[in-house]
Amino acid sequence: MVDILPSETERWQRIETLARNHFSLAGIDEIRTPLLEGTELFKRGIGEGTDVVGKEMYCFVDRGDRSCTLRPEGTASVVRSVIQNGLLSQGPQRLWYGGPMFRYERPQAGRQRQFHQLGVEFFGLSSARSDAELISVAWDFLKDIGLNGLTLQLNSLGTLEDRIHYRIKLVSFLEEFTELLDENSKKQLIKNPLRILDSKNNDVQKLLDKAPTIGDSLSKESKERFCQLQQILKRLEIPFVINQKLVRGLDYYCQTAFEITSDQLGAQATVCGGGRYDDLVEQLGGPPTPSIGFAIGMERLIILLSEKTFDSNIPNVYLVNKGKEAELEALFLARNLRAANIKVELDNSGSSFGKQFKRANKSKASWAIVIGDEEIINGEIKIKSLDKLSNKKDELVFNMSDMQNIIQFVKPFDH
Ligand code: ATP
Ligand code: MG
Repeated sequence: MVDILPSETERWQRIETLARNHFSLAGIDEIRTPLLEGTELFKRGIGEGTDVVGKEMYCFVDRGDRSCTLRPEGTASVVRSVIQNGLLSQGPQRLWYGGPMFRYERPQAGRQRQFHQLGVEFFGLSSARSDAELISVAWDFLKDIGLNGLTLQLNSLGTLEDRIHYRIKLVSFLEEFTELLDENSKKQLIKNPLRILDSKNNDVQKLLDKAPTIGDSLSKESKERFCQLQQILKRLEIPFVINQKLVRGLDYYCQTAFEITSDQLGAQATVCGGGRYDDLVEQLGGPPTPSIGFAIGMERLIILLSEKTFDSNIPNVYLVNKGKEAELEALFLARNLRAANIKVELDNSGSSFGKQFKRANKSKASWAIVIGDEEIINGEIKIKSLDKLSNKKDELVFNMSDMQNIIQFVKPFDH
């Protein structure tokens, strides 16, 4: 589990703000659920055969002898909440959530034990059009953050019946090659054979290249639905590739399954995963409700953004100040500039001008504003360019009371 340090928090806030804007423009409201749930919810909601439930959950028995679990994902909790609070009787719901999730995994780049997700769930919408709307929300948000090299991978898992047909075909194929399967896949062959498609083992993947595909087992209706979704995505100019091995790690998906991957993340390439889960609400005690959702891994977005040189922690102005009156005046000025949305770092050290200037350069601010005893006597301040590329004059003197001009001068350009 890792700390998020001051040098990184602004990047997080930026993404959170963008997400909030995107979701709100799409009529998606926020829901906040507890970090802790009864263990049973995840066992029933995610499935006992999955890695998450089988190996990755943080569970403990509380003082009332109840088995509790730190949420490993958001969907089961949101489903529990909308059922418990009767939200599903109020028409279709478009909801988003964000926050920490917990999984006992081997930590590595882009994989932590406490990590953060941003997720969206649509309840009460069943059309291929709603799938496309949900996918477009994820796609446009990731594009808007400035990510390139993204690929939308798409698959259809069909209905439960389609998957039963496919399961029979897949098992009879794999049973002929059990010696080529690893231990994990052998176990899955009995418990949950479709999960083998998700195997990270190269030999298993090679074998799967020759295996029957789910596309061939889809009913006419499922095929038509999948075609329709592809046509809408083409109309929306969202590029995609079909990946027939995409089954996703959790048990509850049906029809549409998708992932958005980045070519800049190495092994942990998936930034967003989602799919349709029409049976889950009913399975957890609610009314039959078609549903679809996705979750985005925040840490992987942060890694991708760190590759870009985007330094939002840099101030616009570094305020160099020394002397009793000057220090008060500097504080006054800092407040006025901040009120005009200008980012100001105020030097509070009282050390020599030389030392303060060194720090000003180190801060990478565009401007240093200087106030000392001399400036107080003249009722002036000096603004110096710290940006070597700036073509503005090196040092300018402003009247201290001419706040509008000062603000105008140091204000950053809007992007
Ligand atoms: P993976 O195959 O990478 O383990 P998953 O299928 O377990 O992913 P989901 O449960 O679909 O992932 O979660 C959605 C997203 O959350 C993932 O695409 C990823 O970006 C992020 N995520 C999942 N587990 C972790 C983790 N342990 N640390 C950081 N991010 C994670
Ligand atoms: Mg996982």
